[in-house]
Amino acid sequence: MNYRFWCGECGFKTAWGTESVAGRRHEDHYTARHPGLPLGGQVESAAEGPAAGGGLGCAGMAIAVLLLLIIAAACVR
Ligand SMILES: [Zn+2]
Repeated sequence: MNYRFWCGECGFKTAWGTESVAGRRHEDHYTARHPGLPLGGQVESAAEGPAAGGGLGCAGMAIAVLLLLIIAAACVR
C-alpha cells in the first residue's frame, strides 16, 4: 500500500511512499511552508501507487475511445 498526503493549506501533494515516509514529507512541507499550523489535508492511498493510477488511466482512455466510437457510430446512422 502506498500513500500520499495532500496539504490542507495549498495544492501541495507529497510523492507516493510508505505511510511513514509520505507522512514525514507532509510534516516537512508544513514546517517549511506553513509553520505554526497544525497538520491538515487528507491522505490518499493506493494499492500500487502511481502504477495503479497509470493502469486506471489506460483503462479510462480505452473507455473514452470506446465511447467515441459508439458516438461516432450513432452519428453515422
Ligand atoms: Zn501547503
